[in-house]
Amino acid sequence: MSSGQEKTDVILIGAGVMSATLGTLLKELVPEWEIKVFEKLGSPGEESSNEWNNAGTGHAALCELNYTPENPDGSVDISKAIGVNEQFQLSRQFWTFLVNKGIIKDPSEFIMPLPHMSMVQGEENIAF
Ligand SMILES: Cc1cc2nc3c(=O)[nH]c(=O)nc-3n(C[C@H](O)[C@H](O)[C@H](O)COP(=O)(O)OP(=O)(O)OC[C@H]3O[C@@H](n4cnc5c(N)ncnc54)[C@H](O)[C@@H]3O)c2cc1C
Repeated sequence: MSSGQEKTDVILIGAGVMSATLGTLLKELVPEWEIKVFEKLGSPGEESSNEWNNAGTGHAALCELNYTPENPDGSVDISKAIGVNEQFQLSRQFWTFLVNKGIIKDPSEFIMPLPHMSMVQGEENIAF
């Protein structure tokens, strides 16, 4: 008698950018693995990963002011910005790999470089 259970190697819950990225990485590393993605909504990328629910920036960390807090002595701690920027460069390397392999066909449909901009109020913040 069948238990009704199917065997698979990987189950990803949710079809957002995290499952898309992890699934793509796993498919590159172990192509023979069977991967199943379960999404409760009607189509992929409808929650946080939908660009209308998300500022949509790649977080290069060049203008997120909360990544560069000012210390009591007036110096600025940029360690978080550097860490996040390094992660962003890794993402760019991964996307370049996918473009070179033809997995992303037209990168301009996927990523669009924009100038970085921060909006602040008040003289102190503008000076910062
Ligand atoms: C307002 C806002 C602004 C943001 N701005 C930025 C930004 O500028 N730059 C940036 O890099 N990041 C930004 N983020 C963060 C970024 O959007 C998220 O970190 C990223 O999209 C998360 O991806 P995810 O795949 O983990 O989640 P999601 O895209 O939310 O995917 C999770 C999926 O799982 C599904 N799901 C949940 N439970 C189940 C279940 N039990 N069974 C089946 N499916 C299920 C959901 O329906 C959803 O589709 C922002 C997020 C928000 C909300």
